[in-house]
Amino acid sequence: MKLLESEAKAVLRSHGLKVPVGALISAPQEVESALSGLGLSGGVLKAMVFTGGRGKAGGVKLFDGAAAGAAIVKELIGTTLVTHQTGPAGEVVNQLLLEPKTAIARELYCAFLLDREANTPVVIFCAEGGMEIEDLAENQPEKLLRMHPPVGHDLWDFQINRALAFLGISGETAKEFAAVVNGLWKVYQAEDASMLEINPLVIDKEDHVVILDCKFIVDDNAEFRRGHLGNTEADKTEAEIEAGKWGLSYVSLDGTVGCMVNGAGLAMATLDLAVQAGLQPANFLDVGGSANEAAVTKAFEIILTDPKVEVIFVNIFGGIMKCDIIAQGVINATRKLSPKVPIVVRLQGTNVELGQKLLNESGLALISADGLVDAAEKLSQAAKGGAR
Ligand code: GDP
Ligand code: MN
Repeated sequence: MKLLESEAKAVLRSHGLKVPVGALISAPQEVESALSGLGLSGGVLKAMVFTGGRGKAGGVKLFDGAAAGAAIVKELIGTTLVTHQTGPAGEVVNQLLLEPKTAIARELYCAFLLDREANTPVVIFCAEGGMEIEDLAENQPEKLLRMHPPVGHDLWDFQINRALAFLGISGETAKEFAAVVNGLWKVYQAEDASMLEINPLVIDKEDHVVILDCKFIVDDNAEFRRGHLGNTEADKTEAEIEAGKWGLSYVSLDGTVGCMVNGAGLAMATLDLAVQAGLQPANFLDVGGSANEAAVTKAFEIILTDPKVEVIFVNIFGGIMKCDIIAQGVINATRKLSPKVPIVVRLQGTNVELGQKLLNESGLALISADGLVDAAEKLSQAAKGGAR
């Protein structure tokens, strides 16, 4: 689950971190009262969308006076913000965050995330915040300082000192910096974050440390206990939300092969198989072992109604999940929606004979595959329109 900047900053605030106090705005006429409520005459307006790179795309604007602020709100609300992260579809702006202007002296970068190779969280610092950090990581990795903070403990003093030296921070600012970094580290652990990125972490003209922006991703596996921090559905597609209601593990992808699989491992292997057949998967779907006929039917309906899907691949190894239940779900959904796309089916395992029999007697035009190699070939033929 991704949090909006406003939600992320509320989490930081709830842990005692000092964060600029702002107000959410969804209409031009709200600017004046928001400004007087915050005791400001001007400020910064930021598009409340999940993507980063808003600044470059025109989604972060400084202004003086309520009239100028209202004009920005009028211009931005309802527009689609396209950044280098959103792809061409962009993200619609429904709300803006009004905050006091910060007088920036320096923009730094600080992020906590998982180092999957070291199996532990990592903190990354960079003296050039506000930049494209991915580019830096690739082209000038020496500009990033990476350290593994001790889990359950503040950063070690030597780690803080290394960061201070690396970033060129000293004096009173150094103390503030250490408190902010340790505070962020605490939040990262306490709130099940998989990523907490402050870009930029600002040193203002009075040498204070300011958390100017915040990107916060909650570990999906912790959503059940962190759902209150944001909107668990905001960054999901409709199909993903629908699948979630049925206990199906479904992720939308960009390709054309609709996949229905049981078991996450086989689902991953199935995506590889599609790619090997020269195709791209339209989704990841693990129906799991305990889905009943209704859930399997729903799963297949979700795939059938995905406009991207040009060919379907049902790849089941029946263990706890029985092949006849899958077959019946496929038949139900196919009868209901009469799909025009070819469907390749590979069934193995528990009750395979019964499942096969159901499919054969259904009268539906299904392409039966024998094993994975055969399945890949039939998939590729079907996608070319060869087998039907
Ligand atoms: P992002 O582009 O989506 O990451 O949005 P940010 O919140 O990081 O803002 C982008 C850039 O706008 C920052 O790196 C700053 O340079 C600038 N900016 C944002 N807020 C302020 C502010 O209060 N004062 C000033 N001077 N610049 C700001
Ligand atoms: Mn930013």
